[in-house]
Amino acid sequence: MENCIFCGIIEGRIPCEKVYEDENVLAFKDINPEAPVHVLVIPKKHIESINALDESNISILAPIYRALKKIAVDFNISESGYRVVTNCGEDAGQTVQHIHFHLLGGRSLNWPPG
Ligand code: AMP
Ligand code: ZN
Repeated sequence: MENCIFCGIIEGRIPCEKVYEDENVLAFKDINPEAPVHVLVIPKKHIESINALDESNISILAPIYRALKKIAVDFNISESGYRVVTNCGEDAGQTVQHIHFHLLGGRSLNWPPG
């Protein structure tokens, strides 16, 4: 998708610090990390948000969560704990309109979030 930063990363037009890739999923370090571990996991297919999930694309969630689990192990936060966040829409602060899953860990995380 043109004008989508994350599609630009997938297509190699925009650089990233890649941490995981398979045929369906790409994961890379967040450029503005909020925790010692802050990785974004995205589908290679452009999907705007949770609101755009339907029967044609919802099967992407299994590979996404498989990747999240593996990356948590690779970054050694599997046992200490971590959080997975998907912001959807304006009130949640979604700034990139390509669905993404924040993997956050490496420190104690506040709950509830602000
Ligand atoms: P959200 O606010 O949930 O839409 O999250 C978007 C995230 O993408 C933010 O945490 C940004 O820091 C991150 N981000 C934006 N552009 C890039 C980029 N080029 N490389 C890595 N992370 C990015
Ligand atoms: Zn996109």
